[in-house]
Amino acid sequence: MNFHAFTVPEIPLIRNGDDLAELICERAHLQDRDIIAIASTIVAKAEGRILELAEIVPTDRAIAIAERNESDPRFVQAVLDESAEILLESPFLLVKARGESGNICVNAGIDGSNIEEGHIILLPEDSDLSAKNIRKKIFSITDKKVSVIVTDTNGRAFRDGQIGVAIGISGILATRDWRGSRDLFGSVLEVANEAIVDEIASAANLLLGEGGDGTPVVVIRGFDYYAEEEGIKRIHFPASEDVIRSALRFFPQRFFSQKNRVKNCPSGEG
Ligand code: GDP
Ligand code: MN
Ligand code: MN
Repeated sequence: MNFHAFTVPEIPLIRNGDDLAELICERAHLQDRDIIAIASTIVAKAEGRILELAEIVPTDRAIAIAERNESDPRFVQAVLDESAEILLESPFLLVKARGESGNICVNAGIDGSNIEEGHIILLPEDSDLSAKNIRKKIFSITDKKVSVIVTDTNGRAFRDGQIGVAIGISGILATRDWRGSRDLFGSVLEVANEAIVDEIASAANLLLGEGGDGTPVVVIRGFDYYAEEEGIKRIHFPASEDVIRSALRFFPQRFFSQKNRVKNCPSGEG
């Protein structure tokens, strides 16, 4: 078995209003069942989800958090504005981003990289919808049934280093459910439900890169995970079933407030 992945060449710097589907279709010969991984950064840029730091007026709360976390109060204000729930305030902001399918991540996924100095990039407003619109547009241009995964780079609990994750999907199953099938010895699998969209996002991220490569789109070919409809929401635990999130909610924040007690904290996403 094998799969193939390649970057789409010569994508320009993305501006508000750019048509990503068109830009991709002009630069890649897409096939049915291709999976298109697109860095959320350019989806956000195309949707005009950019703020100028100088125009943000921080509240007292943002100023206080920024002081404790040694960050920019205007940046903190943007994070608070983009958050539906704050899971951890210090030493870094771990939040559930706004929106029905909001990703749980550091700083609400707001990025200060790959954008002009003094600006920040928010996550797309609704990454599932972004993925869906791009997929539909690709179909209207090429007549090909592709899947779209909007990716972001996220830190992880328990492990150092960041990886690509899926934050919005369209035209692909979020998971490959092994439950009910049998293992090598005939035992029925009861738990395995493989988060294939995250695995594919991570694989794509190997080619996307984090810095100045300028390769925000990767095509993955060789899988047959196409599904007419599915969003990322299904793999977000409902709050009531999310053990870690509940534990954080009841955890005394002051335990974390002294920076020197925290040797390793993910400084952010990429
Ligand atoms: P994120 O993971 O979605 O936050 O995106 P990153 O900032 O890590 O960027 C992923 C890839 O997209 C890197 O190769 C960047 O150089 C590239 N990238 C970011 N913005 C643009 C853009 O506007 N145009 C092009 N061509 N590449 C971009
Ligand atoms: Mn990245
Ligand atoms: Mn990012």
